[in-house]
Amino acid sequence: MVSTQKNNSVYSGIGVGDGTAWGKTVLLAARPKIPAEAKSLLSPKEEKDRLVEAISFVVSHLRETAEKADETTADILLALLALVEDPALLEEAEAHLADSWSAETSVVRAMRSFTELLAGDDLFAERIPDLNDLVLRVVARLTGQNMTVSLPKVGPIIVVAEDLSPAETALFTDAVVGVITEGGGPTSHTAIICRQRNIPALVAVKNATTISNGVGMAIDAIAGEAYESDSAPVGGATLTKLVRKNDPIIEVKGNAGSVADAVALANTQASGIGLMRTELLFLDRAEAPSLAEQTELYKRVLEEAPAGEVIFRTLDAGSDKPLPYLGIGREENPSLGVRGFRLNDLDESTLDIQLTALAEAQKLAKRSVSVMAPMITTIQEANAFKELAAAHGLNSIGVMVETPSICAMVPELKGIVDFVSIGTNDLSQYLFAADRQNSAVAKLLNPWQPAMLRTISRICLDAQEAGIKVGVCGEAAADPLLSVVLAGLGVQTVSVASPAVQKVSDYLSSVTSEEAKAVAKAALSAISPEQAKQLALAEFTN
Ligand code: PEP
Ligand code: MG
Repeated sequence: MVSTQKNNSVYSGIGVGDGTAWGKTVLLAARPKIPAEAKSLLSPKEEKDRLVEAISFVVSHLRETAEKADETTADILLALLALVEDPALLEEAEAHLADSWSAETSVVRAMRSFTELLAGDDLFAERIPDLNDLVLRVVARLTGQNMTVSLPKVGPIIVVAEDLSPAETALFTDAVVGVITEGGGPTSHTAIICRQRNIPALVAVKNATTISNGVGMAIDAIAGEAYESDSAPVGGATLTKLVRKNDPIIEVKGNAGSVADAVALANTQASGIGLMRTELLFLDRAEAPSLAEQTELYKRVLEEAPAGEVIFRTLDAGSDKPLPYLGIGREENPSLGVRGFRLNDLDESTLDIQLTALAEAQKLAKRSVSVMAPMITTIQEANAFKELAAAHGLNSIGVMVETPSICAMVPELKGIVDFVSIGTNDLSQYLFAADRQNSAVAKLLNPWQPAMLRTISRICLDAQEAGIKVGVCGEAAADPLLSVVLAGLGVQTVSVASPAVQKVSDYLSSVTSEEAKAVAKAALSAISPEQAKQLALAEFTN
């Protein structure tokens, strides 16, 4: 759709954002190398001192960067700080230091045990790049390698990198107009930050690191491509200023995973919480959290959440998750194994305690709780969950729609559930048979995929017929243009992380329901994700 000036170097990836960008490339240096494992000639105490010094160097560097950063980036950096300052990292490393391993080897080994612990859980797996980045910074300090990035202040610049860490995106100045990364996917950190900052980006670009430094490069986020060019793309669609016409045409709720997230949402215009992931409380423990502990946490979330319905999702643990107390053995394909509601067949007490805690929290906070189950695949599972939740005194009950099998059965959910919430992250993974953690298949996970849009459309039509409310709480809803498409398809609520609330609300306020339907209709006619986005944008800006 864009230019006439493409030459032979075209790079394809997943486009993030609605626009085009042009600038001179700035390649970020490759990440510091981790030295081979080594024992130290120094004493464990001396190695520990080196490690403590390196950690505190990284802490103060991050803190300084956070002070200069905007609010969203500062929040990300402060979360990183909490990870690196967590005494558990040093404690874990100390076991290796005591065995005479060097500070470098000890901290890398500590990181590996943490990442193993986090890897099986989709939510926490997202923190792995952060953890890796932090440990690389510590190792860089220990080995005298440079990990400080300095970007030219005068642009326009297109940043090209293997991948970007939160600390690196924090250094972006206004000179950065575009981003190209080899790693990442539609839900990666880079994509999220670029979306928030309105910077067109291309992620999951296989050969990104073969791009030369200092060349003119155009990005077309809608076409999902970048190419060398001496001048800005012509004819690329760039969004003109949004005009607020009305209140958002559908409800915008917030996603949370902790009390702090509920607090953050209370400072936005989100109405209630559309997805409270309860996993956080269960992770990294020797046994399940007690009834009292869960009750207290859920009560606090209810007290802090913005006005509106609050939907708690019951534990979404999986078989390769670090929850040994659930008694699940090793599985070859954990994402296709015992995860989410399937756990209940193995161990009924976990869900029983959780539902009891939610019912108790509802009474204590004097605020009603909605509850939904993850990974529902059959009507029998939906029914079983409904019976359990109702028996615990909960009366707004729903299920996640994140497997193709339940998509086919939405009409039969009538009379069983009050609402469904589409989890586009997992629905993409299962619909396209593409691992959501694998950037090599990230293109299939693009939520603009026509099969995805058509599936959502079908769910909405069936749910409407059955009198069931439909929401979307997956990352797709955080793409503001896509949120308009979702509204047009019949979705009644979107739920997004706090930084995305404003932008999604703005888009949803700039159209009428009729206009959103036209945007959705345009997107539905496409046969590729790029075309879907392009057609939607053309209709939206029309
Ligand atoms: C989803 O799958 O879209 C979802 C919201 O759940 P999670 O990302 O926690 O698996
Ligand atoms: Mg999911």
